[in-house]
Amino acid sequence: MKTHVKALVVGGGAVGTSIAYHLARAGWEDVMLLERDELTSGSTWHAAGLLPLFNMGYATSHIHDYSVKFYKTLEEETGLNAGFAVVGNLRMAQTDARMDEYMLYASTAETVGIPYEWMTPAQIKARWPLVRTDDLKGAIYHPTDGYINPADVTMAMAKGARQRGVVIERKWQVDGYEWTGSEWRVSLTKMVEKGGNLVPSEETAVVTAEHVVTATGNHAQRTARLLGIKIPAIPVEHQYIVTEPDPALAEWRAAGNPEHPVLRDADAKWYVREERKGWILGPYERGAPACFEYDVPDSFRADLFPLDLDRIEEEYMSMIHRIPTSETVGLKDDFNGPICYTPDGNPLVGPAPGLRNMWLAEGFSFGITAAGGTGYYLAQMMVEGEAEIDMAALDPKRYGSWMTTEYAARKNEECYEHVFILHHPDEEREACRPLRTAPAYDRQKALGAQFGCVNGWERPNYYGPKDAPESFDHDARSFRRGGWWEHAKAEAEAIREGVGLIDATAFTKHLVRGPGATDFLDRFTCNKLPKVGRINLTYALTNAGTTRTEYTLVRLAENEYYCVSAGAWTAYDADYLIKAAEDFMAAGGGYVDIHDVTTQWGVFAIAGPKSRDVLREIVKDAEPDTVLGNKRFPWLSMRNIELGMCPVRAIRVAYTGELGWELHHPIEMQTYLWDQLMEAGEKHGMKLVGARAQNWLRQEKSYRAFGTELGRDATPLEAGLDRFVDLDKEFTGKQAMLETGIRSKCVTLLIDGPANADPWGREALYLGEEKVGRLTSGGYSVAFGKQIGMGYVRPDLAEVGTRLKVRMFRDLFDAEVVEDSPYDPTNAVIRKDG
Ligand SMILES: Cc1cc2nc3c(=O)[nH]c(=O)nc-3n(C[C@H](O)[C@H](O)[C@H](O)COP(=O)(O)OP(=O)(O)OC[C@H]3O[C@@H](n4cnc5c(N)ncnc54)[C@H](O)[C@@H]3O)c2cc1C
Repeated sequence: MKTHVKALVVGGGAVGTSIAYHLARAGWEDVMLLERDELTSGSTWHAAGLLPLFNMGYATSHIHDYSVKFYKTLEEETGLNAGFAVVGNLRMAQTDARMDEYMLYASTAETVGIPYEWMTPAQIKARWPLVRTDDLKGAIYHPTDGYINPADVTMAMAKGARQRGVVIERKWQVDGYEWTGSEWRVSLTKMVEKGGNLVPSEETAVVTAEHVVTATGNHAQRTARLLGIKIPAIPVEHQYIVTEPDPALAEWRAAGNPEHPVLRDADAKWYVREERKGWILGPYERGAPACFEYDVPDSFRADLFPLDLDRIEEEYMSMIHRIPTSETVGLKDDFNGPICYTPDGNPLVGPAPGLRNMWLAEGFSFGITAAGGTGYYLAQMMVEGEAEIDMAALDPKRYGSWMTTEYAARKNEECYEHVFILHHPDEEREACRPLRTAPAYDRQKALGAQFGCVNGWERPNYYGPKDAPESFDHDARSFRRGGWWEHAKAEAEAIREGVGLIDATAFTKHLVRGPGATDFLDRFTCNKLPKVGRINLTYALTNAGTTRTEYTLVRLAENEYYCVSAGAWTAYDADYLIKAAEDFMAAGGGYVDIHDVTTQWGVFAIAGPKSRDVLREIVKDAEPDTVLGNKRFPWLSMRNIELGMCPVRAIRVAYTGELGWELHHPIEMQTYLWDQLMEAGEKHGMKLVGARAQNWLRQEKSYRAFGTELGRDATPLEAGLDRFVDLDKEFTGKQAMLETGIRSKCVTLLIDGPANADPWGREALYLGEEKVGRLTSGGYSVAFGKQIGMGYVRPDLAEVGTRLKVRMFRDLFDAEVVEDSPYDPTNAVIRKDG
């Protein structure tokens, strides 16, 4: 047993094995993998081995795409055949909405480069006559994926890893982690067989490692406890059944016909594939319970739960409906195993919260499909500093300290049940809500607010009718313009023409202060620091020069800053900020004190030409007529004002691009302030506005959003934010940013799209037949009366006036690159005095 390594991977399932392989392939010579039992003895052994390329997420699609390509190369490298049956994958649709979903997915597939084909019911019938098609609308077909033997592919990766120098030790369990300040001291116990169980022996060891990766599958809760962090990876029971041979299938195959592709009847919530002339049915049914919420018992090894046939009866019957010959075929085998989930279904891949050199790869529900790509991109992060794609959607810090075991378990059950439920882009799931509510929540709800959930917070997406039934928002969803669209349009118009009030309480807020605060932030962010009482938009970069966080930085005092960033990313932003400050101080910088004050401050944004008139009704000042005028309160400044009896930190910025203020207020006074604003607003026709309208409006101003235009795959210069980058100073990531150059460029496009739909920000952009970029945001512009989008294109196509096409619903629509900030390009409206 080695006692010191560069990287220690814990867990010998498909995921851990792939990570060890890819670390070695990326050039790390001293890698060891530890497994408490045998390789593949976790969930990996009982997986059905399907490798679906279909995924609605951009990063995850890249990961799956890599895996499918990589697995095809393994035999040549290792001599081991992993049983990859490239039979393709046919995803059928029973409804028009389902076809719309596939078309939206196809946008992502195109931007990633995943091949797909459309099939009509008649084409399906002609190719696979055993499949009933009379009630189908069509299907999307992936010719390049299929299924693999999960144990064999893991063994092939293990062999490849060993060939590249990785040491694999079995029957060693990690029981403790201790960070010494420069490396991890990892305590191990030798595991032995006793009465059929795997139990710890007296033999122990210690390994020191510069980096540790945990890929512990169903044991994630134990790993979390050992590390002293929270990991929302909790398994749910998942079953599949195997039938006896189907004579009709046997006959069809005997006639020389090829194997069926993996069949997915999404509306019936199952997949089916051939298995020795019979069928495997894998349902994603309602009511599958979470398991191992606190730990996996020692007695549970490569075990299974008993089959619950009642739970999957509906899906079983629908398989018989779809493949009528399966009706008379008996059941041969069944599997009911733990399958790890996370609340949003994405695994947790990346740096662990609050810890150094500790990497998580936990919570995989499609771990066979994701293993290859996860290993590849995580190794890039560890070895090179960043992956070539933005891995934020998978980052372990997308859940904050508010997340509990109960939340994760119930959300994971919901996520399992939703695997095949229509993935509307405007979908909002119901479980565990409301949980994080600001004081004005009840008032907003009573006024028709339809809430979305951001980082656990309830935030109005739009305001529907006051007396709307409970199901209003659900019924309003669509892949085109949902029932909410008219409401969002009226809200956007209200801001452009009158005044609107937005709840932005979910914003992440940090207070950074202390003698070292100014020097630290100057180094940490790329723009000039604001003067006291002023505001700057600025960016913290990664070491690779790409965007890590966007901040609205308010300088409260010489050495005190209020840093506002995106609401969805509180823990993600906090982790980077705190670690950077620790490094700064360790290198001799002055003391910096950082507080997450997110839950102490509520935020309302008031915007629109009449916003000043509303505030003037309630502002208290010796000279109320001038307190909000340009002279005393210029654009991009902060003033402490009083609205009625509420002290407000008012910031003159508006993400909607109108005259407006963000009103940061003590959270305990929120309902008071709300009532004041509502009363004052009534006289001026103020409308309540949600996040959807705000998202459209900010695109008219070309304001980049974090998580769409801004992320770890583009530098601020590529994002077109040159005016917020001060090249005269030194800052983290500067050199790398300059060396990267401009690989693609962020642009705003006005689009002549279809009459009933707007882009969602996933669509591919074309120049003639050539794919030249992708949208990252999309919506409707009330200022221009047509669709709008933002995205990245080849740099030579970023010129204003370039005419491109955007693919929506299988058609290409005209799109034109317009100047940045097509609405009010000179900011005259925002600066308006009064
Ligand atoms: C019935 C069923 C069907 C499925 N079908 C598919 C499918 O078709 N396609 C697909 O992509 N996915 C499928 N899955 C999901 C898939 O099985 C998992 O996502 C995948 O196996 C996860 O791999 P892993 O390496 O993360 O975890 P695991 O395979 O569970 O590996 C984790 C390993 O870590 C070890 N370990 C844990 N703690 C320690 C410790 N402290 N010290 C040392 N070792 C430790 C464990 O012993 C285990 O071997 C299915 C799952 C189920 C239940």
